[in-house]
Amino acid sequence: MELYLKISYLNDFIFCPLSIYYHQLYGSLSERLYYGAPQLDGKAAHEAIDEKRYSTHKNILQSLDIYSDEYKLCGKIDIFDTEKGLLTERKKHIETIYDGYVFQLYAQCMCLREMGYTVKQLRFYSSDDNKLYPIPLPEDDVQMFEKFKTTNKAMQNFNMESFVPQNEDKCKNCIYNDFCDRPLAPKSYNGGF
Ligand code: SF4
Repeated sequence: MELYLKISYLNDFIFCPLSIYYHQLYGSLSERLYYGAPQLDGKAAHEAIDEKRYSTHKNILQSLDIYSDEYKLCGKIDIFDTEKGLLTERKKHIETIYDGYVFQLYAQCMCLREMGYTVKQLRFYSSDDNKLYPIPLPEDDVQMFEKFKTTNKAMQNFNMESFVPQNEDKCKNCIYNDFCDRPLAPKSYNGGF
């Protein structure tokens, strides 16, 4: 059986590959204890899409399950306008467009294309301040697309046993520090949950 990894893992993988494992183990607990009220508001906004309450227009696809055989990824899109070929990912608040954000949009784009849809535009929407952030298509940003492919390949081939963390600052700020079997920062540094 083919193994497909979740698109959302790309962001975790960039922070620390091990955090994917701990996210799976402690995911719902850490979300409840780690997310403050503003973030939970943001999750509620996202749930409107998950529950398909965002739009009833038939050219708007919401919360569609997607997958890619080529990249061995699966997940869901937020909003895709099939007429305009416009893919939108909503976030509660955007300060910075991190590589992980872009990789998630690229992954969604590649999945949709593999499934036969035409994707012509990518963008983020920051709902707090009502701002739009257009993102170039993968073919229009060769360097970033290569970075996406390299990151995905590393994630697909990741070997947890041999992983050695390198960045102490990340461990200090990691919410899984108390549970991790090889943190660089002392346990309880951040009080855990
Ligand atoms: S404590 Fe460090 S090594 Fe462990 S999951 Fe967090 S960042 Fe990764």
